[in-house]
Amino acid sequence: MINITLAKGDGIGPEIMEATKKVILASGAKVSFDEIEIGEKVYLSGNTSGIDESAWDIIRKNKVFLKAPITTPQGGGYKSLNVSIRKYLGLYANVRPCVSLHPFVKTKHPVMDMVIVRENEEDLYAGIEHQQTDEVVQCLKLISRPGCEKIVRYAFEYAKQYYRKKVTCFTKDNIMKQTDGLFHQVFNEIAVEYPEIENEHWIVDIGGAKIADTPEVFDVIVMPNLYGDMLSDVAAQITGSVGLAGSSNIGEECAMFEAIHGSAPDIAGKNIANPSGLIQGAVLMLNHIGEKEIAEKIQNAWLKTLEEGIHTADIYKEGTSKVKVGTMAFADAVIANL
Ligand code: NAD
Repeated sequence: MINITLAKGDGIGPEIMEATKKVILASGAKVSFDEIEIGEKVYLSGNTSGIDESAWDIIRKNKVFLKAPITTPQGGGYKSLNVSIRKYLGLYANVRPCVSLHPFVKTKHPVMDMVIVRENEEDLYAGIEHQQTDEVVQCLKLISRPGCEKIVRYAFEYAKQYYRKKVTCFTKDNIMKQTDGLFHQVFNEIAVEYPEIENEHWIVDIGGAKIADTPEVFDVIVMPNLYGDMLSDVAAQITGSVGLAGSSNIGEECAMFEAIHGSAPDIAGKNIANPSGLIQGAVLMLNHIGEKEIAEKIQNAWLKTLEEGIHTADIYKEGTSKVKVGTMAFADAVIANL
């Protein structure tokens, strides 16, 4: 039995986590859960970091963490707990598969199957931000050679392991010649070690436009933190919904799994959120801990449910979908297909 740390998060977090947990438990996975409280509730109880020391201890002890989205205040308030967790646990690779499920889920991009590998510790997310004068604030972009080497090698090794044909790099090295320039340079250096895998580079603005227009030309894409955060939302959304994609955050010792989307406060508590992103996070987690058959069983049940046209509101479309269901009913339909 493997102990998994689990956090229900904020907004739609508790609903999608309840649905996901129910699917995992029904699948026969040999896992147990250590539940921790993090995010808004902890913050409101007076701990300004949003996480207690005892929760850190459990996360470090179990090494595998399934986390629902957490709300982070915009333009002020407490620091992003998501960023802190990724940084403190050394989760350097954020892997986000975005796949179209045509013809079962309506999308304008039927043959899309890309994996975004996002650097997860550096860039403008390193948290080096300060006030210089009354009228000037500054955020520093941190890019290191070891950081670039780890993430670029991860992307090529991932491509090799999953028989992917091409790794693309996105940077803005025409403007940020040193920081993005280093990322691109390391990409070129490491790419030559993988002659069997095609490689290319795009400047991120046109690369992003191509994701939105012709996503089928991409396979694995590696990029610095901020671009990866933004473009993985675009990629997931054009498969049908940002609610469909999950992600793994991989480090040398620990790993965290989650949906790519946020806590969606606009639909929280309504039982309409799509739990698929977190279910996909759970499938990535089960593969990571070696429960490959159970992961495949859940993945097939999830695909069958979508193929049957049992859809949550975000992906429900007349003509493609058959039944509109809520969060828990979707999970029950997945369980019925296990
Ligand atoms: P969001 O991803 O929460 O929501 C964007 C839009 O997508 C909303 O209209 C929402 O209703 C919809 N949506 C998201 N997930 C959905 C789902 N599963 N099913 C159906 N619809 C879904 O982005 P936001 O509104 O910019 O952010 C809300 C909060 O989440 C912010 O505090 C942000 O900091 C936080 N956030 C957390 C994480 C994380 O925990 N990893 C990631 C991103 C954002």
